[in-house]
Amino acid sequence: MRTRDQNQKTAKAVVLLSGGLDSTLAARVIQEQGIELTALNFKTQFCLCDRHGSCAHQAGRVARELGIEVRTIFLGEEYLEMLKNPRHGYGRRMNPCLDCRIMMFKLAGRAARSAGADFIVTGEVLGQRPMSQRLAAMKLIEKESGLEGLVLRPLSSRLLPPTIPERRGWVDRERLFAVQGRSRKGQISLAAGYGISDYPCAAGGCLLTDPGFSRRMEDLIRHKPDFGPADVELLKVGRHFRLNRRTRLVVGRNQNENARLLQLSEKIPGVLFMPLEVAGPTGLKPGKAEDDGTIELSCRIVARYCDAGAGRLRIGYRLPFRRETEETVAGRADQALVEELRVN
Ligand code: SF4
Repeated sequence: MRTRDQNQKTAKAVVLLSGGLDSTLAARVIQEQGIELTALNFKTQFCLCDRHGSCAHQAGRVARELGIEVRTIFLGEEYLEMLKNPRHGYGRRMNPCLDCRIMMFKLAGRAARSAGADFIVTGEVLGQRPMSQRLAAMKLIEKESGLEGLVLRPLSSRLLPPTIPERRGWVDRERLFAVQGRSRKGQISLAAGYGISDYPCAAGGCLLTDPGFSRRMEDLIRHKPDFGPADVELLKVGRHFRLNRRTRLVVGRNQNENARLLQLSEKIPGVLFMPLEVAGPTGLKPGKAEDDGTIELSCRIVARYCDAGAGRLRIGYRLPFRRETEETVAGRADQALVEELRVN
């Protein structure tokens, strides 16, 4: 990051812009102080974009309103590598918030240096998130990302030690705020002051903070430590069953999920299951078609979720890399069994 003379007029900063209310407000507050901004938007496979409208889209909309440029950075394989063994561990679920923020801040620092920016701005609020937004955690993240004193959090600045931009007079601390905690009241009243009324709900963390998804993630890390992006996509679909140490079965819950499982089977070779005579779910059992009893068990589980009444059902299955469908007649797995095998 460049060293700016205190008397130079316009300082430059990079704002981490999710498109949510907090980062939008942070950008507005800093822009109002005459700081020249560019924005970075981070995306991972665990963003809740699909539920809350694409965050890159939201960030783009906000950036347009602010009249600033935004660049989206997708954290792919390197993020998954970190997730397999985060240096600072996981939060309450499988959320590696400290390592996640360190990774993002390091990249933001690099982007700021190449853009000739002086500091980083975020919409973080002291005490809002238990793992990454405590004072000690904020300090650790800054230190490990090489940005000590260079991260300005305008919504909570007055509760935090003065940063370099404040000490050097680029930013007036008196015009920053003292919002803290999980309540959104402070931000909502600030938004009203800026005339901001159109903002998405606070997403409150990514998919890795979701209890059900985290159990699947934990199961994946334990049984397939070399997992890749397609395995993560599969975690987002259907009901998951752990059949044995090597074998998992995923069963669609609706037509969309059945179609998605078919799509994913092209990237994740495995045995595909489908009922032949009645309506019911598609199943995907990733991996080799070993004759270890899991094909028969999978057919019984798929039969369990078919629409027809009691009795045995014809269930088709297709082995990996084969075109022809084989079939078996399966009774339905009972409730106790599916509950025992279910991962979430
Ligand atoms: S909630 Fe998810 S995206 Fe947010 S810091 Fe934690 S791991 Fe990263």
